[in-house]
Amino acid sequence: MKCEICSKGIAETFLGKLKGAYVKDVKGKLRAVCFECQSKSRDKQSLLQQIK
Ligand SMILES: [Zn+2]
Repeated sequence: MKCEICSKGIAETFLGKLKGAYVKDVKGKLRAVCFECQSKSRDKQSLLQQIK
């Protein structure tokens, strides 16, 4: 799984969970975002603006 903002691979925990987040875009599609990009953005809205 790759981050949709920085396109780096997103690490997974040993349980197979992503170290990041899924954000729903305006079309209702789930986009994967890594932990680093997630922590740089204050809210969902600013995260979505960075996804191309
Ligand atoms: Zn990222």
